[in-house]
Amino acid sequence: MRILIVEDETKLAQALKESLEYEGFDVDIAHTGEDGFFLVNERHFDLILLDVMLPGRDGFDVLSTLRKRDLQTPVLILTAKDTVEDRVSGLDRGADDYLVKPFAVPELLARIRAMLRRGRGEQRAVVLKAADLEMNVVTRDVLRGGQAIDLTAKEFELLEYLLRRQGTVVTREMLARDVWNVSVRAVPLDNVIDVHMTRLRKKIDQGFAYPAIHTIRGVGFILREPNR
Ligand code: CA
Repeated sequence: MRILIVEDETKLAQALKESLEYEGFDVDIAHTGEDGFFLVNERHFDLILLDVMLPGRDGFDVLSTLRKRDLQTPVLILTAKDTVEDRVSGLDRGADDYLVKPFAVPELLARIRAMLRRGRGEQRAVVLKAADLEMNVVTRDVLRGGQAIDLTAKEFELLEYLLRRQGTVVTREMLARDVWNVSVRAVPLDNVIDVHMTRLRKKIDQGFAYPAIHTIRGVGFILREPNR
């Protein structure tokens, strides 16, 4: 499997290349959109990692052109601009998934594997559901029993993480690594995680017939539908 990284930050591009090569992928790097076009015309890639903020033509522009030329290669957008507009804009232009910088390498690898498994055309779910709890990751709407719930950015991220893994236990290590992007877990961070978790649970569970999020003592948390 061959992956193209289009990223102007040379250190980041090199670090990604090494991580991916370690996983057995063949990797090429382009530092500008133009170089990216050149390489795409030269050879076949199974997946493209595309940075948005590039010198000259930005990632969205590159992506539009590739899709206009009917290139079907799955594209994962790397963006530091975590705004609704950017997400919508990226998905509209034919990106298959996006990842917000800074991201954890294990999360990137998981996304890449998932994209390669399903191929192009099936985008990552935009609406996530668990019984009467619903989240739209593009519009950022969260509803419980049809009632809108206002979450902070971190609470939103936390809930999205739990929803994407519903029915499975999420540990504090996983939250520290994937939601807080911290690889070494410490007691103060555990406290921060717990504070956010408590606030999130208050917002989405208080006043409803049954809780969506449960504590698994000594292990972590699980989001699940009732009677499962
Ligand atoms: Ca950049």
